[in-house]
Amino acid sequence: MRSPHETAVELFRTSFGRTPERWVRVPGRVELLGNHTDYNAGLVLAAAIEPSLTCVVAARPDQHIRLISSAFPSEPIELHSLRTVRLDPGHWAGYVVAVCRELRAAGIPITGFDAAIDSTIPPGSGLSSSAALLVAAALTLGRLSHRTVAERLNVAQLCQRAEHRLGVHCGLLDYLTVLHAREGHAVHIDCRSLVVRNVRWPDTLALVLVDSGVRHRLTAGGYNRIRSDCEAAAKSLGVATLRELRAGSLRRENHRLTAAQRAVATHILEENQRVRSSVRAVRAADFRRLGELFTDSHRSSRDHLRNSCPELDAWIERARPLPGWLGGRLTGGGFGGMTLHLVQRRQLRAFLAALPKNANAQEGRPSSGVLEE
Ligand code: ADP
Ligand code: MG
Repeated sequence: MRSPHETAVELFRTSFGRTPERWVRVPGRVELLGNHTDYNAGLVLAAAIEPSLTCVVAARPDQHIRLISSAFPSEPIELHSLRTVRLDPGHWAGYVVAVCRELRAAGIPITGFDAAIDSTIPPGSGLSSSAALLVAAALTLGRLSHRTVAERLNVAQLCQRAEHRLGVHCGLLDYLTVLHAREGHAVHIDCRSLVVRNVRWPDTLALVLVDSGVRHRLTAGGYNRIRSDCEAAAKSLGVATLRELRAGSLRRENHRLTAAQRAVATHILEENQRVRSSVRAVRAADFRRLGELFTDSHRSSRDHLRNSCPELDAWIERARPLPGWLGGRLTGGGFGGMTLHLVQRRQLRAFLAALPKNANAQEGRPSSGVLEE
C-alpha cells in the first residue's frame, strides 16, 4: 500500500506536472477528556491519532495559486492573486486562503504556489480534519518562504485566527494537540497557561472510536451557541473566563444566570475537575476511575451542553455491557461524529467482535504529531 505521503506526491505530479518541494503530514486528533473546555481557558486531555492529512507544495515564480485535494478531485482551484479571491463560504479552499492571509499578516511573504492535499481523515467526523488542513498549510507554506513561524504556540494561534476568519470560533486544542503529540502519549493542555505536557498512555488501555455516521457542520450554530452561553455566563458572574469559576461562587451567584448559562457553567467547572482527575487516574493506572470519568463527561455534555444526539447516546448504551468496556463519551464539538470508548486491551478483540455488525469502529492509538520534510 502506498503511504499517504506518496499518494499526495502522485496527486501533485499528475495535477501540476512537476515535482513538489515540501511536504507535511498532520494526524487527526481525538479529545480524550475536556469537552468544550479549551476556549474557556480550561483543561484538556487529547491525543493525535491516525488517520492523517498530507499537504505537498512547490513555489511558483508568479502570484498564481493552484490547489487540488483528493477529497474534491473534480474541483481543482486556480486563483490569480490572494487579494482578489472570492470563494463561497464553506469552500474547502477557503482554509488554505485563510492561512495564507494570516501568514502574510504575520509578516511571512506568500507568493504563488501549487499545493496538493491528500487525507484519510473523514471531514466532520470529530477528528478535526480542519485543524490538520490548517496546520499542514501553515507549515508547508511557511517553509516555502524560508521564514517559518517559530513557536508551536504561534503556529497554533495563527491557525486559530484562520479558522475564526471562516466563522468557527474554536479554541487552541486541535492545533496544539497535533503540534505537540508524541507516539504512545496523550497530550495534556492547560488552555490558560498554555503549558502542554505529554502523558504516557498505558499500553493496556485501548481507545475505540465508533462513528455515529451523523455529520455536523460546525458553522451551523450549535458550537457557537454553546460558546456564547459560556461567554455570557462568565460575564454575568464577573469572571474573565469560566476557568476562574469556583463551585461556591457558582452556587451563590447562580440566580444571575439563565438556565442554559447555569448548565454550561456547571459543565465547564466539573469537566476541568474531571480532566485533572483523569491525569491522576492514568498515572495511578486506575482505569476503572478513568472509565467513570469518560462516562460522566458524556452525561454532562448530553445534559448540560446539549451537544449529544440520539445516535451518539445509543452507541454509549450499546457498548456499555460489552467485554472490557470501561467508559465512553462523545468527543469533539458534538452533534454527531464519533463516540470514544475506553476498553481493556486484553478484551479488545472480544469487544470489537461483540459490536453490532453495522458498527463503523476503529482502534485509535496515540500517534506521533506532525512529520515534515
Ligand atoms: P472536522 O471535525 O473534520 O474538523 P470541520 O467541519 O471543522 O470538520 O472541517 C471540515 C472541512 O475541512 C471540510 O468541509 C473541508 O472544507 C475541509 N477539509 C477537510 N479535509 C479536507 C481535505 N482532505 N481536502 C480539502 N478540504 C478538507
Ligand atoms: Mg474542525
